[in-house]
Amino acid sequence: MIPLAIPNLSGNEGRYLQDCVETNFVSTVGPFVTRFEEDVAKAAGAKYGVATCSGTAGLHLALTALGVARGDLVILPSFTFIASANAIAHCGAAPWLFDISKESWTLDVELLEKQLHREVERVAGRCVHKRSGRRVAAIMPVYTLGQPADMDGIIGLADEYQLPVVADAAAALGCRYKGMNVGQLADLTVFSFNGNKTITSGGGGMVVGDHEELLRLARHLSTTARVGSDYDHDRVGFNYRLTNLQAAVGCAQIERLNEFVNTKRRLDAQYREAFKGCKGIEFFPAPDWAKSACWFTGIAVVEQTLPAVSEICQRLRTMGIGARKFWKPVHLQSPFKAMPQTSMSVSNDIWRRILTLPCSTHLCAEEQSQVVASVLKVLEH
Ligand SMILES: *Cc1c(COP(=O)(O)O)cnc(C)c1O
Repeated sequence: MIPLAIPNLSGNEGRYLQDCVETNFVSTVGPFVTRFEEDVAKAAGAKYGVATCSGTAGLHLALTALGVARGDLVILPSFTFIASANAIAHCGAAPWLFDISKESWTLDVELLEKQLHREVERVAGRCVHKRSGRRVAAIMPVYTLGQPADMDGIIGLADEYQLPVVADAAAALGCRYKGMNVGQLADLTVFSFNGNKTITSGGGGMVVGDHEELLRLARHLSTTARVGSDYDHDRVGFNYRLTNLQAAVGCAQIERLNEFVNTKRRLDAQYREAFKGCKGIEFFPAPDWAKSACWFTGIAVVEQTLPAVSEICQRLRTMGIGARKFWKPVHLQSPFKAMPQTSMSVSNDIWRRILTLPCSTHLCAEEQSQVVASVLKVLEH
């Protein structure tokens, strides 16, 4: 079986883990945690990083640090992994779900502008959603498949409405937006280091940003809001820290970030080349303002001409190819069906047609050719 996306642990991972055992630093305090925070912040072009035990925890922490609380709304594209919406719900808030743009599969900026204009008013310095009376507390763009959202437009509107921006960049470390690094765009940017991301720490996440106070608060909240060493705590905090063991793996991984991202981009380009001109096959969007980190790569099948994607996946699996469907949008998920939402024509169309293809960083040329041949066979080219 050629897997969809598995970790590549052929660097210093084992050595650094052994070091944790030998020095007895296996828990949330340890040199690798600090080093990983510095390395990720630097790689993202941000000043500070706070490591967390997952990307979801990082999103929850970032939202909490920005004051998102019970009853609030947070603007979120519906086409995302459910963890983005869960993090909002963990704050007692609700996602206000938006469609994505066809050109980027990220938050539709024109729609955002229209909806804010129509549905939001500023009351006593707060942004209020007129129909529900709820406060709109933040915007959370998602960097889909490793590709940044159109941040100039989003940040412009965030400034106009005085809303903080938390980017769900879970799988987007390594991407660029108009030449800017991924951590230089939103107020807070959150990564995941889950096993299927480009860089993994087994499980883990990170909040990065330039705002010292905000990052200090995030760190404080992530460690049970402890004050001093005598079991004093000044808020309801979380136990969200990454362990030194996980950070050890993360440190070894991030040494190879450029290599991994370059490999992912090459695999993506090779798939595009191999399927170029094939009837019924479209590609993931590549707007000129974005340089994707190409977390996942694959194709979008044209529905009318081909079998359904789930059937294609099944057939590919019998041929030893680990292809998969991709995110089912949040507005179609039971816990979030009743949330305020825009029309969803793009999200409703796209998610049914995406086929992600094997893109592990150690995928060899023969394996990729085998994937291409199998896909073409299933699609009857
Ligand atoms: C992976 C992912 C997450 C969740 O990260 P975990 O580390 O699994 O909690 C959130 N959002 C997006 C877009 C993701 O891809």
